[in-house]
Amino acid sequence: MTFEKDLRAAITGRVLVPGDAGFDAARTPWNVAIDQRVRAVVDVADAADVAAAVRCAGLAGLAVTTQTTGHGAAGDVDGVVLLRTAALDGVEVLPQERIARVGAGVRWGAVLAAASPHGLTGLAGSSPGVGVVGYTLGGGLSWFSRRYGLAADAVRSFDVVTADGATARVSAESDAELFWALRGGGGDLAVVTAVEFELKPAPQLYGGRMMWPADRAAELLDVYRTVTASAPDELTVWLDLLDFSAFGGAPAVAVDVTHLGSAAEGAALLKPFDEVAGRTADGRRMLPVAELGSICAEPLDPSPGRSRTELLGELDDAAAAALLDRPIAPLLSVQLRQLGGALGRPAPDGGATGGFTEQHLVYMFGIPTAPDVAAAIGERQSELAAALRPVTTGRKPFTMLAPGERAAAAFPGAALARLRDVKRARDPHGVLRSNFPVLA
Ligand SMILES: Cc1cc2nc3c(=O)[nH]c(=O)nc-3n(C[C@H](O)[C@H](O)[C@H](O)COP(=O)(O)OP(=O)(O)OC[C@H]3O[C@@H](n4cnc5c(N)ncnc54)[C@H](O)[C@@H]3O)c2cc1C
Repeated sequence: MTFEKDLRAAITGRVLVPGDAGFDAARTPWNVAIDQRVRAVVDVADAADVAAAVRCAGLAGLAVTTQTTGHGAAGDVDGVVLLRTAALDGVEVLPQERIARVGAGVRWGAVLAAASPHGLTGLAGSSPGVGVVGYTLGGGLSWFSRRYGLAADAVRSFDVVTADGATARVSAESDAELFWALRGGGGDLAVVTAVEFELKPAPQLYGGRMMWPADRAAELLDVYRTVTASAPDELTVWLDLLDFSAFGGAPAVAVDVTHLGSAAEGAALLKPFDEVAGRTADGRRMLPVAELGSICAEPLDPSPGRSRTELLGELDDAAAAALLDRPIAPLLSVQLRQLGGALGRPAPDGGATGGFTEQHLVYMFGIPTAPDVAAAIGERQSELAAALRPVTTGRKPFTMLAPGERAAAAFPGAALARLRDVKRARDPHGVLRSNFPVLA
């Protein structure tokens, strides 16, 4: 009891422990399929609360894990103290300097809304509901990464609380090793309370979703391969095999695109898709950056999900055939994302993620509505991954690791060894716990 008493005395925000009203809701992450049996939930009021919670946990021999939203929850947090950062919600955009400073509770939607009127963007991914800090600590694969690289590599500085409960501003100048590790190594090395990063020019954005019936999948995959093989870095194309039949919908194929440029240029680059007959919807238009999330329209409310991601060195005929071999059910979607461009040219002073030599990723997603459905989803993911094995590299983007996978899969060997050295030096007693710990 003394830990809980000390914690409540030290914290300005809200502390909930098992038995308290609201504890179950507070411990539930955005991905509601993940059960988090934590020791306590602390809704921090400010950075001082973060420092106090880290110190209390350290003194009690407990670990702390931090979540902005719980989109990346992986379980395995029994007995851990969960810090929630929603109250750290400041967003400051400096258009002249092309910089944003945001608190650790901010989601991408708020940054895009603030940057959009200035013709600027942050390096957001598909969902405006994802937390900026959790995404950025894992590298952050953006719609615009082919043009501008990873979100992590746009960071100027992090405000952090270290494992001993001290506060610091970490930049290339102040602490190059921790700054390198935080840019891709996840939440194992410090609790971030705020981040400052570069905004990128996006004066014109053309994009949207096109839809076809499922029987066009083979033709569309051919076109996807052709268009992505010669696309400029300003163009990014994703292709989704969709199957909503379990929810009353028909199987379909979606092609999602963004083009940092005019509608005329974008439409010309995408012209081969116009040749595929039977298109049932075409949502392409000039898009304010603030509406980036409308392209995939992923759910914002907490949802259950089970995903698996593989990186593909290339997408050859055999891999394309494997993707289309049979219906994707019980998966809801099998999404191909085009990589390449700046992702293959990381700056020498970039962070722990480094570059990606892979040209595509495949994200296999299902909704585990019951234990047998969850098992069937896992089996279908494994089967598809096995069929794609000749072209998969075995590496995974850190942000897309799934429960049961290990951080080691996200890094080339030298980067992993360096991250582990940073972890041992900066958190020798294991007070900080990432969703994917680097030493596991
Ligand atoms: C619908 C959806 C769309 C997605 N789209 C993309 C995409 O386009 N590109 C991409 O790269 N990823 C994408 N992801 C993956 C997403 O980036 C990761 O799940 C990411 O971890 C989410 O960050 P979060 O803060 O919202 O989640 P959380 O679960 O809150 O955080 C994830 C982890 O980040 C760390 N962390 C979070 N906040 C802090 C903090 N303040 N200090 C220290 N550590 C912290 C912790 O280790 C935590 O376990 C998507 C996920 C979903 C569910």
